Amino acid sequence: ERMMEIRRQNCNPMIMKVTYYKKPVFIHQGYMQWLWDVDGRRYLDLFAGVATVSVGHCHPRVTAAAEEQLKRLWHTTNIYVYPPLHEYCKKLASYFPDPLKVVYLTNSGSEANDLAMLMARLHTGNFDIITFRGSYHGGSPQTMGLTSNAAYKYPIANGLGCTTLLSLSPVFGLIQLTLFLPDKQTMCPDVFRGPWGGSHCRDSPVQTIRDCSCAQGQCMANEQYIGQLKETFATSVPSRIAAFFGEPIQVPYSGVGGAVQYPKNYLKEAYKLVRERGGVCIADEASRPVQTGFGRTGSHFWGFQGHDVIPDMVTMAKGIGNGFPMGAVVTTPEIAASFAKGVHFNTFGGNPVACVIASSVLDTIKEDGAQQISLDVGTYLMTELAKLRDKYEIIGDVRGKGLQIGVEMVKDKASRVPLPPEAMSEIFEDVKDMGVLIGKGGVYGQTFRIKPPMCITMEDADFFLAVFDKSVCNYMEKR
Ligand code: PMP
Repeated sequence: ERMMEIRRQNCNPMIMKVTYYKKPVFIHQGYMQWLWDVDGRRYLDLFAGVATVSVGHCHPRVTAAAEEQLKRLWHTTNIYVYPPLHEYCKKLASYFPDPLKVVYLTNSGSEANDLAMLMARLHTGNFDIITFRGSYHGGSPQTMGLTSNAAYKYPIANGLGCTTLLSLSPVFGLIQLTLFLPDKQTMCPDVFRGPWGGSHCRDSPVQTIRDCSCAQGQCMANEQYIGQLKETFATSVPSRIAAFFGEPIQVPYSGVGGAVQYPKNYLKEAYKLVRERGGVCIADEASRPVQTGFGRTGSHFWGFQGHDVIPDMVTMAKGIGNGFPMGAVVTTPEIAASFAKGVHFNTFGGNPVACVIASSVLDTIKEDGAQQISLDVGTYLMTELAKLRDKYEIIGDVRGKGLQIGVEMVKDKASRVPLPPEAMSEIFEDVKDMGVLIGKGGVYGQTFRIKPPMCITMEDADFFLAVFDKSVCNYMEKR
């Protein structure tokens, strides 16, 4: 009660709005995939602080590296050359294909995206920026304008953003927001809240619940989507643009957005159309490498690599520091040269402790085989969740990649109406009471989000599957 009182009175009242649990969890300690509350109760953490704890809570190797650096040096300024910063930038750059070799370190994903927007405008001399419908790119005044998810926009930033092409940023005026995700589930009858075709139209390890009329495989539906994309560009996008921001897996429909995957070649075509208009292409892996990067999708280290594209800039945060605040922009020497015409300074970006931690995270992902775990356990989870989807009327869709999974809940499969918030909360609370923490998201709050630390085991997956099965069953029995 005392904690709740402090939370109400002194602790950013906004937090109360997003307090998910009716009976709050008082977290005290964490180790790898586990969290403990103040009463010593253990939870399997499948949310990882919003896909941020990449290799495990208080991972011993990362903690040891941080402790050593904390005893040596906490902070200095960029006017000195200190090894952790330089070694980390070199190491991070080595994870990218040419020409992505120049690293700027920030303190968050929003800050990384702010910086990327500025760089894109300076480099191209253009102003307009394009994002996808349902996207989330941050909570700073600028990135709020870039975000196309009304729930995260204040009226002043919201402007006309979600219904027309323009979004008003309170600081920088108009930002073009072209919404070229299909609005309705027009193309394929097998679509739940995700705007794309059924699971078989995406690069997914699980099949949809029923046959779909769109010719069973990439092709037809994808061509139609790409045709629609070209048409939107031809009719609605200005001839000169500064940038296009895209999340390699969209958070809005299972992340913040909901783990939506694009049809084959969609991003590739979008990149082509953007570049024809003089714009640069920015992969926001802050949701995905903010949430999609650092091996989380399993098959690739970066989300963009699954789309056969090379962005001009990649922004990232979340998993980069395993929970230690940090973000980054990685770009080309050419764009860096345009940016160098001005002066940019960031007090904390490149902090030595953050750099040592982030460096250890990269090593740990490799040494612990975290990317392989993402692929193996992620595929297993999706396959088993698809069985539960076939078992229960209220599980509409299972989507995602690796350990970035969205489970969309519906009133019933025929109506596809999102499961109401009270029902979502009931299941969510029940899962927690049985010892598993998951997330909630999606534009209608209808998607459970599963993004555990990448040290989860098959046994943990089985434990969660049994718990989820039981809580959906409990809800169905009461209904
Ligand atoms: N971009 C994406 C895709 C994100 O998911 C997020 C965070 N959810 C951000 C940007 C913003 O990152 P941060 O909260 O670190 O500012």
